[in-house]
Amino acid sequence: MGKFLGRLGLALFLAASLLAERVDAATPTYLKVKVFSTPDAVTVGARSSFAFFDPSGRRIAEFPSTSTVKLTRDGNQVVLPGGVRQERVRVIASGNEGNGLVLVMGRPYRGELEVWAASGWLIVVNVVSIEDYLRGVVPAEMPPTWPEEALKAQAVVARTFAYKNRGRHAAEGYDLCATQHCQVYGGAVVERAASDRAVKETAGLVLRYQGQLIDAYYHASSGGRTEAAGAVWGTERPYLKGIEDEWDRTGPYAEWKVSFTLEEIAALLEKAGFPVGRLEDIRPLAYLPSGRVGSFLVRGSGGEWTLPGEKLRQVLGTTVLKSTWVEVEKVSAGTQEGVLAVVQGASSQGKKLIPHGARIITAEGISTVGRRSGSSSPTPSRGSRPDQVVFRGRGYGHGVGMSQWGARRMAENHPGPDPEFFRQILTYYYQGVTIEPY
Ligand SMILES: [Zn+2]
Repeated sequence: MGKFLGRLGLALFLAASLLAERVDAATPTYLKVKVFSTPDAVTVGARSSFAFFDPSGRRIAEFPSTSTVKLTRDGNQVVLPGGVRQERVRVIASGNEGNGLVLVMGRPYRGELEVWAASGWLIVVNVVSIEDYLRGVVPAEMPPTWPEEALKAQAVVARTFAYKNRGRHAAEGYDLCATQHCQVYGGAVVERAASDRAVKETAGLVLRYQGQLIDAYYHASSGGRTEAAGAVWGTERPYLKGIEDEWDRTGPYAEWKVSFTLEEIAALLEKAGFPVGRLEDIRPLAYLPSGRVGSFLVRGSGGEWTLPGEKLRQVLGTTVLKSTWVEVEKVSAGTQEGVLAVVQGASSQGKKLIPHGARIITAEGISTVGRRSGSSSPTPSRGSRPDQVVFRGRGYGHGVGMSQWGARRMAENHPGPDPEFFRQILTYYYQGVTIEPY
């Protein structure tokens, strides 16, 4: 009997210490994520009863679950109902009936809220564990209908980003913002079962290179080739090399086209601080190893600028000029055959079939393709300018790190259920990394 109890005691002791270790290992890291800011007023609440606390932890007000509370600002103070002023207010759900969800303008979040006023703004920050934060990030960054292994790769990448960039907004009093600047975080309303599962099944896993958290950049679509970090941003990362991406040559963004009038481009340049005047030329100046454009020349009556490729994307709109892997065609209306074109792209320079009579733009000026001589000896003509600029491009995003469409295709093409396949996706796009608990 004593022996039995002894064994039981040992078993209990072991179980307890195992549990303790687990609890210890799972002690969550909390992030402060800015989810809302406004100059004047914000409503907060919870799906259960909730309470306000001051910075010292003193409970200053309690509310039933159906209520919402309007907070306003007076200078650098938060004004509570009844005119009570506080430098900072914590909002904590106290009841069990609403999964602990707190509300900002009716939108639910896990964790707690902190509200303060600074520089003319009311700032609302969600204090949330990293794992709960990821449940509101993964489905916002990748459709939760995508394959489970792709979602798991995304979860590991997003977690690595969160740990690595914790404190990015420290000067403003929080860790991360909830927009594309950091990572898109939608809170509890965007959570889905599949993305929750992806977060849970990769719980705690991050990417490291030689023991250090990596810069886990990712983008929507590589178009068939990723780009080295150093080529885009000037800072080499040994784990962010450009690769031939066999998985992302046929996605929906593999090939696209967008056109602008000269006036549209000139207006956007002007708005961005490049008063180019009447736009006369826009062309690639230098290429990155993948074929993406490293820099563009823009020239007009107002002057001439060299813009980094990603800068021109920002100027024209990153969702419009989807990547810098582009060929630039300048299209002139008005010949009988219709239009056309000269090509200054990396891969098809001089290869385009040009119809007779078409006008083409070369470095020397505008030429008309002779009827008998084909495209071999264009006859120069003067005075006309192209009416449109057409960008023919590949991929979507900066092209560095994981391609989300490539991750999807890899997962779709992998036979059979394989709960470890997300590791192969990650090591395909990030070379030489390890995948380990934080
Ligand atoms: Zn940010």
